Amino acid sequence: MKQIFDNATHEDRWQAVETRDNRADGQFVFAVKTTGICCRPSCSARHPLRKNVLFFDDVAAAVEAGFRPCKRCQPDKQAPEQQRIDRITQACRILETSSEPIVLAELAAQVAMSPFHFHRLFKQVTGLTPHAFQKAVRAKRLREQLTQGEAVTRAVFDAGYQSGSNYYQQADAVLGMTAKQYQQGGERTAIAYVTGTCRLGQFLVAQSQRGICAILLGSDAQALRAELETLFPHSTLTVGDTQFAGQVTQVVSFLEHPAQQFSLPLDIQGTAFQQQVWQALREIPVGQTASYRDIAQRIGKPQAVRAVAGACAANKLAVIIPCHRVVRHDGALSGYRWGVARKRQLLEIEAKQLEE
Ligand SMILES: [Zn+2]
Repeated sequence: MKQIFDNATHEDRWQAVETRDNRADGQFVFAVKTTGICCRPSCSARHPLRKNVLFFDDVAAAVEAGFRPCKRCQPDKQAPEQQRIDRITQACRILETSSEPIVLAELAAQVAMSPFHFHRLFKQVTGLTPHAFQKAVRAKRLREQLTQGEAVTRAVFDAGYQSGSNYYQQADAVLGMTAKQYQQGGERTAIAYVTGTCRLGQFLVAQSQRGICAILLGSDAQALRAELETLFPHSTLTVGDTQFAGQVTQVVSFLEHPAQQFSLPLDIQGTAFQQQVWQALREIPVGQTASYRDIAQRIGKPQAVRAVAGACAANKLAVIIPCHRVVRHDGALSGYRWGVARKRQLLEIEAKQLEE
C-alpha cells in the first residue's frame, strides 16, 4: 500500500491527515508551526489549521527543522502496525523452530499478547490460524526427514506428531499416502487427469485421492501432460473416467467465471511457506490485484518478496490459487507461469464479471 503516498502532493497528504489514514503512517510526517510538534498522519490529536501545517518526508527531517516528535502518536517510534507484524513474525519463528506442539495461550504469552487478539492478528497476517500454521510446519519437517531417509517411526515422532492411536493417520493425511509409500517415492499414488479446451486455451485438470491437485493452462495438450509428469514424477497418471469428467466441468466453469464459488476438495501440496503465500493469494478478492511486496507483508515476512514470487511461480492450481492477481509494485503485469497474455485475459474477465 506504500505506493499510494509515493510522490503524494501536499493536498493528498493533507487529505490523509484529515481522514487519519493509518496507511500513510511511515510515508511522511506533518509538523505544526504553532506548537512545534510533528505527528504521524493518523495522529488522534485535534487537527491543526491547514495554514499552520508543514510536511516532511520523515521524522528526522522534521526534527532537523526544529520540531519535536508528538508524545501521543510517537512518529519517532516504530509504527504500531509494524510492531504487531513483528510479533507475528516472531511467533512464526517460534513455531518453525519448536519441536513440540505449542498451545495458543503459551504462544500468545511468548509474544506478549492476549490469546484472542493474537489468534485474530495471526490469521490476518499469515492467512492461517496458528494451529494450521503449526500443522504445515510439521508436515514440511516430516517430508524433509522422510526424504533424508530417516526411519518412518523416528521421522513421524521428530516432526512433532504426538504419539497415540492416530499417530500414523495424522501423518498419512498430511502426506496423502503412508509415510512408507512417501519414502519409497510415492509411486503408488494415482493421479487421474483430463485435458480439454476452454476460453483460456488448453487446460489440464488432475486429481489425486485427496482432491484436485493440478490445474494447468497452455496451448498444447501433450505439453500439459508432460508438465504434469514433471510435477508428480512418482505418480501413476491415468486419463480420468466419466465421473471425473463431471468434476472437470465444474473446474472449467470456474476457470471461465472466477467469481463463482468453488467447492471441490483440493489437494494442495507445498512447503509451509508456499502454503502461506497461496492462502494469502486466495484472499485477494476477484477483480483486485496485490503486489509481491503486499503479499510478503501480509504473511509477516516483508523481506521475502522474491520468495513470494517464487511461491507464485510454483503454483500448480491455476486460477483457484489466483497468482494472476499478483502484479508488480508499479502495477505492471510481470510474469505468469501460464503466460502474461493469459494473465491479462484473466484480469479482464474478472473486471468484466464484476461489472455484470
Ligand atoms: Zn501526534
